[in-house]
Amino acid sequence: MRVVFPDYVRQGIDLLEQAGFEAWAVGGCVRDSLMGRTPHDWDLTTSATPPEMRQVFSGLPTLDTGIQHGTLTVLLDGQPLEITTYRIDGSYADGRHPDGVTFTPDLREDLARRDFTINAMACHPQRGLVDAFGGQEDLRRGLIRCVGEPDRRFSEDALRILRALRFGAVLDFQLEPEAAASLLKLRQGLCQVAAERIWSELSRLLCGPRAGEMLRQFAPVFQVFLPELVRMVGFEQHTPYHLWDVWEHTVRAVEAVEPELVLRLTMLLHDIGKPACFYLDPAGQGHFKGHPALSREMAAAILHRLRVEQQLSRQVLTLIQYHDVNLPHTNAGILRWLGRLGEPLFFQLLAVKTADNLAQNRDYSDRVPQLEDLARRARQLLAEGRCFRREQLAVNGRDLLALGCRPGPPVGEALDWLLEQVVSGSCPNEREALLEKWRTAEK
Ligand code: ATP
Ligand code: MG
Repeated sequence: MRVVFPDYVRQGIDLLEQAGFEAWAVGGCVRDSLMGRTPHDWDLTTSATPPEMRQVFSGLPTLDTGIQHGTLTVLLDGQPLEITTYRIDGSYADGRHPDGVTFTPDLREDLARRDFTINAMACHPQRGLVDAFGGQEDLRRGLIRCVGEPDRRFSEDALRILRALRFGAVLDFQLEPEAAASLLKLRQGLCQVAAERIWSELSRLLCGPRAGEMLRQFAPVFQVFLPELVRMVGFEQHTPYHLWDVWEHTVRAVEAVEPELVLRLTMLLHDIGKPACFYLDPAGQGHFKGHPALSREMAAAILHRLRVEQQLSRQVLTLIQYHDVNLPHTNAGILRWLGRLGEPLFFQLLAVKTADNLAQNRDYSDRVPQLEDLARRARQLLAEGRCFRREQLAVNGRDLLALGCRPGPPVGEALDWLLEQVVSGSCPNEREALLEKWRTAEK
């Protein structure tokens, strides 16, 4: 596989080399190119020190956010290119930040500090590939292998534990056995890692094609920062609707949903409150009454702890809250739910409910065809332009004020009432009809 360098990346390399330094593309962009994937960004590594880099790029817009660690971001052709000086990370007293970084003139030393062999390759448009640790071979075999001694590398920076699982999930790779054993052994190190760094890896892991397999195989790693998961593992449900314990059901539900973060995260957390809600009736059947509300509450605490952005959190919490409701199949019922959730969240709820069902015992309750029917009907109502939001009404607040409605909250209440008349089919969405309806209504 040939590495195709975009123009702006060549330009960055040329500018540094014309000034007498060495520069290479490194890390994810080389890995992705060798796998035949298009890299989402390119990083350079160079023998130039930070002041020398600044001088080389003095005429160009730069961001020096990571300059103390040797990183400068240059805008070339409007594209950000991250350039880092060859460096050796110092020791990691706190397992988080290198105590100090030492710059080095040797590319190989820079590659040796990198986490996995597949991430430790450099490439140059003329000089070709530098693969000092067998990265190409591991790419071929589909293996995540540490550069150097796994115990030492995972102790230096415990985030690498989660990164290993992230690359396993995203690239559909196996973990090399020694690395797998080591990261399980050293998993508690993740307690020291900042929530933002955990979330940045976890969110990408969840969207990988092999996310479920990583959750299944490495549950104890996830339990370090999600202790709420502990009780789910091996928690038998004692109901004919389920074939698996709460954790295996959860993993299957993650696998059954599209790789979209809001959906994957919802499936991971949707039943997290189940163990605490469990009740075994005298007939020996298990029940989990109230689990969506408790799952929502527990998920809210988790998402806050992981510093997940507000908008995503809100969506996930709503989906968890409603994951177990029985949605109505009448037109009015569908329109009310479309109004309550908005269009995107409504269809996401159908996806969540479908995945939940696919991860249950389908001999007992196969709701998938009903959910498909609901989606079809909702799309039909939308295509017909049916009204389910206040803003779609043929009247607005000003119309009602002109007819003597009291200002303030009563206007909203009146519009909601009229919306319900339209949704339930007792009034057409026409201006005169609506005004007449309001005029003659009991108030
Ligand atoms: P992607 O950008 O697709 O997530 P990537 O490999 O570029 O993949 P980044 O997090 O952008 O991942 O890191 C860039 C490179 O820096 C990695 O390829 C790896 O060589 C190195 N690296 C990143 N984080 C670490 C770490 N915690 N320990 C060691 N090396 C790391
Ligand atoms: Mg990257």
